Amino acid sequence: MLPVNPPTRLLMGPGPIDADPRVLRALSTPLVGQYDPWMTATMTETQALYRRVFGTDNDATVLVDGTSRAGIEAALVSLLAPGDRVLVPVFGRFGHLLTEIAGRAGAEVHTIETAWGQVFPTSVIEDAIVRVQPKVLAVVQGDTSTTMNQPLDELGAICARHGVLFYTDATATVGGNPLDVDAWGIDVVSAGLQKCLGGPSGSAPLTLSPRAVAVLDGRRSVEAGIREPGDEVSDDPIRSNYLDLAMILDYWGPRRLNHHTEAASMLYAAHECARILLEEGRDAAIARHELAGRAMLQGVQALGLQVFGDVAHKMHNVVAVEIPSDVVGDQVRTAMLEDHGIEIGTSFGPLHGRVWRIGTMGYNARKDTVVTTLAALEQALRRGGHPVPQGGGVDAALDTFAAADSPAVRA
Ligand SMILES: *Cc1c(COP(=O)(O)O)cnc(C)c1O
Repeated sequence: MLPVNPPTRLLMGPGPIDADPRVLRALSTPLVGQYDPWMTATMTETQALYRRVFGTDNDATVLVDGTSRAGIEAALVSLLAPGDRVLVPVFGRFGHLLTEIAGRAGAEVHTIETAWGQVFPTSVIEDAIVRVQPKVLAVVQGDTSTTMNQPLDELGAICARHGVLFYTDATATVGGNPLDVDAWGIDVVSAGLQKCLGGPSGSAPLTLSPRAVAVLDGRRSVEAGIREPGDEVSDDPIRSNYLDLAMILDYWGPRRLNHHTEAASMLYAAHECARILLEEGRDAAIARHELAGRAMLQGVQALGLQVFGDVAHKMHNVVAVEIPSDVVGDQVRTAMLEDHGIEIGTSFGPLHGRVWRIGTMGYNARKDTVVTTLAALEQALRRGGHPVPQGGGVDAALDTFAAADSPAVRA
């Protein structure tokens, strides 16, 4: 067998995206044990970085080792005891995922649904909260399956009024779309690195408000093998050991109670992702995503393609393009990959085969990547038998960037 030698790709789908080379370098640095003072200091530093990434003062800000789904599952299995009521507004694939994970945790799951391509008016969510009276509201911020960005800024106050804990999956939005955890009154947020943060998948930054930590405290348990006199043993422990956020907080906290072996390489990656974001500035990074996303949107529209969904509520970092009826969607994707080395995505469920999803996120939210992708798409469409205006997409995107003339755009 040969050594692993991946092809060079430009990853312009809905995630993962190309990791920033700085993150790849961080990943290749030496391992250090989790009790080494350097390591504990680096863990503490990473917590401080992610407080700033999320816009929170929450002491309980940590990494869950695993992909974003591990962060989602840690949040839901830790907050929800069997029989607890949870409300999940579903507007795409990841809402269904929250529903499934909450159901497996034994919760009594209530959902409201809207058509794919739409978001919920805040009042509809508030009405459902009043009707269901859940312990937890669990809602995706940006659902990449539909590209919709659910407005969250008013939900925190509503949840607080009704005594509901507010959890959101911000995997696909953090770093590229506004998210202000404390200002918006969100209790628990989980995320991942492989979207707007420009890293690989495999680490899930997560933050918990003091109110959420108090809920965990009721089910706190210390493992038999490391228990000391006076330690809690719950008779209703959180139903996962690996994803028990109370244990994970004890591990990251001053006691450094042993839990899993910290995934050191992913910690380094997460640390570098946050440094890159904060160096650029959260607002500047969001503006860069907004501009690159708008240039891609105007580029595909200038190619005569239709965009799926409520564009006014589109995430900055991904666009869903309706596949013209005279081409085979997967043939165009294959041509993009084989002839140009560019990956774009399709979607799931009702949108499978109906849309391509093109991402402009993290390290790849740049002018050159947008222009290169539009040039390749134009070529792939024409060779696939669909007429497109020559250079139209590239011109429209370049015009968008020129009009913005923003120093925030990394050349
Ligand atoms: C991409 C995405 C995920 C990814 O989860 P992984 O476990 O890292 O694959 C989760 N949630 C949302 C909303 C996403 O868009």
